[in-house]
Amino acid sequence: MSYEVLARKWRPQTFDEVIGQDHITRTLRKAVELGRISHAYLFSGPRGCGKTSTARILAKVINCSELRDGNPCNACSSCVGVIRGKNLDVMEIDGASHTGVAEVRDLQESIGYAPSQYMNKIYIIDEVHMLSTHAFNALLKTLEEPPKHVYFVFATTAPHKIPETIKSRCQRHHFKRLEIGEIAGQLEKICQAEKVEYEQEALRLLARKAEGSMRDGESLLDQCITASTGKVTTSAVRNILGLLDAEMVFSFLEKIADKNPTDVLKQLDRSIDEGVDLLELAGALLEGFRDLMILTAPGDLRELIFRSKDEIASLNKLVAAFELPDLVTIVERLCNVTPRLKTASDPRVLLESVLVDITLLDKQVDIRDLIARLQSGDQAVAKPEGGGSGRKTRHPEKGREAEKEGGLETAPDTRGLNGIGSKGVAAYSEQGKDFMPDFGDRNSSRETMSQAAPSAPGPSIAKEADTTGTESPSDLDLESIQERWKDFVTFVRTKNASLGIFLDSTTPSVFHGGIIQLEFPKSAVVLAERVDDPKGKQALVRMLKKFFNQEMDVSYTVVGGADIARKENGDARRNAKQSSGRNAIEQQPIVKKIIEDFDGEIVTYRP
Ligand SMILES: [Zn+2]
Repeated sequence: MSYEVLARKWRPQTFDEVIGQDHITRTLRKAVELGRISHAYLFSGPRGCGKTSTARILAKVINCSELRDGNPCNACSSCVGVIRGKNLDVMEIDGASHTGVAEVRDLQESIGYAPSQYMNKIYIIDEVHMLSTHAFNALLKTLEEPPKHVYFVFATTAPHKIPETIKSRCQRHHFKRLEIGEIAGQLEKICQAEKVEYEQEALRLLARKAEGSMRDGESLLDQCITASTGKVTTSAVRNILGLLDAEMVFSFLEKIADKNPTDVLKQLDRSIDEGVDLLELAGALLEGFRDLMILTAPGDLRELIFRSKDEIASLNKLVAAFELPDLVTIVERLCNVTPRLKTASDPRVLLESVLVDITLLDKQVDIRDLIARLQSGDQAVAKPEGGGSGRKTRHPEKGREAEKEGGLETAPDTRGLNGIGSKGVAAYSEQGKDFMPDFGDRNSSRETMSQAAPSAPGPSIAKEADTTGTESPSDLDLESIQERWKDFVTFVRTKNASLGIFLDSTTPSVFHGGIIQLEFPKSAVVLAERVDDPKGKQALVRMLKKFFNQEMDVSYTVVGGADIARKENGDARRNAKQSSGRNAIEQQPIVKKIIEDFDGEIVTYRP
């Protein structure tokens, strides 16, 4: 006997066997029991969710001589005829192939004839939205006054393409996309009946890949049973579906968690040697980080993860290495790179750059979390660690408790994934906090900074300066700035070593209209270019304000280089405009508090 594919063999034969569409099958069974079957039905819904199967069951009950509680008997000659596709009074028509004038005429004629074997004729028209306007018009006439012995069951994946006049004459039922659990449950039932050994997680993985279609799920199971030796396992399913080896993917996740770009790139090189497809790899990494994100998110969402217990255990080991906002950023970046990999001239380089990028990602904190915590007065929870080395290790459960203690209950909207949406704008990064312009190797300069911090006399000088400044800030002139410049540079070096080194070579040459002009030798031009990005400049402006207790802007000039000075003055005027807007924001109490408590700065603002 030839092999019968599972989807056919396990096609539901009664309303009760249809999975996941109880809301429809209940109504239909009731109608059968009451003898109130409508002459035209429209079944809509995604593919593979039971529309055609239900239409056939309906066709059976219409002519069945031995109904059982509204279900067909599946034993009488009519039922058996439908099951075998040999019932002449049940006609299945593919909408796509019945669009021509001749076919429509044939259909019309056929409807006019009496049934050949049984009491009624049933027309099942699949993908009915494909019919031509001409065909719809012909149908409409029949639907307006259907012959007593004729029934229609239309099925479609695109109900919006069907004329309203047709729809309004049908009893409509919408079939829902099947849940993973519903498909997995059916696959399990099939495995048990077919005496196939299986791993539960393997079936869930198959169900997930079926994307809501029972038919696809059953076909995939077919493939796996045929290809695997004996047992349907997760790794067999991965192999057959062309999914990447989980171990390799985990190896990537671990190396990214370790913040080790060298190892990540080496692993990528090895994987490429092994013939891994970059697009698939990006997809698998995306899936991995997505699952980490789900595990890190508040609440137990494990049911949304389709992995074996071992895999979930491995993921749980990595959870502590990431903060939720980091994971959201990583997921976003991997999402963005996937379509670009298809068109990139050198996809390998593109993936390399993204992997290094996410490996070196700065720790981020959701600004709304911060605000909520600040409002509750719990600074200890929110205050990030000072050092820049590695990520903060945090047990997710403890973290969640801490969040609760931090008073997030008062602002529930800031919790969970919903609260992350705008973090791209509101992100708070350590880089910003440290006033670090992009200045050579980030890590090494940060180390220099933290080494310099304990011994430097900065804070006390700053205090002194603050006091002096408070007395008469308007007295500040070029001379007094020049006098205290060395102290200021020392103060800056405790905050930002690289900026301090640059300032060491500068001299304040002009102070007018709130703009201080810094002169530096030609030898420091390269340094100046690096510091003079918006971030570096704003950091300097903020430190000037802190030290001299007066708002001032900065322009640079090379000794003997008037052109640069003029350009810089133009920049300074623009910056002065920008900084007045920034001042207004800086004056807001909540912003003030954040800046104070975190020694932060406003990196940018939108008027
Ligand atoms: Zn029957």
